[in-house]
Amino acid sequence: MGSITLQKVSKSFGDANVITSIDLDIEDGEFVVFVGPSGCGKSTLLRLIAGLEDVSGGAIIIDGKDATGKAPSARGLAMVFQSYALYPHMSVRNNIAFPLKMAGVGKQEIDRKVEDAARILNLGNYLDRKPGQLSGGQRQRVAIGRAIVRQPSAFLFDEPLSNLDAALRANMRLEISELHQQLKTTMIYVTHDQVEAMTMADKIVVLNQGRIEHVGSPLELYRNPRNIFVGGFIGSPKMNIIKGAPAARYGANTIGVRPEHLGLSMQNGDWKGNVIVGEHLGADTFLQVNVGGVGTLTARAGGEFPARPGDTVFLSPDKSNIHKFDENGLAT
Ligand code: ADP
Ligand code: MG
Repeated sequence: MGSITLQKVSKSFGDANVITSIDLDIEDGEFVVFVGPSGCGKSTLLRLIAGLEDVSGGAIIIDGKDATGKAPSARGLAMVFQSYALYPHMSVRNNIAFPLKMAGVGKQEIDRKVEDAARILNLGNYLDRKPGQLSGGQRQRVAIGRAIVRQPSAFLFDEPLSNLDAALRANMRLEISELHQQLKTTMIYVTHDQVEAMTMADKIVVLNQGRIEHVGSPLELYRNPRNIFVGGFIGSPKMNIIKGAPAARYGANTIGVRPEHLGLSMQNGDWKGNVIVGEHLGADTFLQVNVGGVGTLTARAGGEFPARPGDTVFLSPDKSNIHKFDENGLAT
């Protein structure tokens, strides 16, 4: 079982408040992603849950029991770090087996658990190698294997894929999602990458400056971001944010329109602009369009859209997909 509840959890380092009064419920078996910009407190929050840092206030409940003062080893959680943290002089087998040896588990049981984990992670052929003889993705799989053999009630991942190149990252994303489907164990996954959050999470927790901005499923956050920060953070390319007179026309202090919700025409539309750049990605073309009095907007066009820098285009926000925000940046 791996339900985790945070009650008014706070953390300060000296007089710097890094985490401010966080309340959160994580259900057993959920895949929860903490996402937010660098420095917003994601790692600190994860380390508080793991017990690697002491809270300054509030409580952490694991499986219905107060774990706030417990040692990390008594919490039944396993953490996987960006840096892998493998022992370079030990084989893959011994790296994976390490926590079991420390716990005094018998050799036969260790062998069985290590081999199970190696099978799940496709590491069977690498058990006798040293970490230095593995690729980055394989090393991270060893680190995950070392977590799996402990049969934790929850896995805590801190940016585990950030050291990998883009293609491998996309691969490992799928592997971790599959692992979750297979093990059905609670996972808390920290990342600054909203694509990882959108593609992996059952539930996304958007953090900013030590506070929760929004909790919801990926599509809830995409469709109904609670404020401008969440609107701008979730979705790629970013939501266009338009303030002042052009937004007043749509009955709001500020409006947000995603690039995919800006209609494009060469003939007519709400806003006339000049193409500055066209980024051709194959399936899509993203246009940067300078609209007088509005600013530079990103619009998504089809892959073969013929606009070139300097061309005049017309943009019209899709009326049913305009996000309206008040003067405090909150969705109305
Ligand atoms: P993230 O993981 O979101 O990038 P962190 O949780 O690592 O952010 O850090 C949040 C803030 O807390 C940062 O401003 C960081 O400098 C500060 N911080 C983290 N750990 C410590 C520490 N041990 N002592 C002092 N400040 C810290
Ligand atoms: Mg971090």
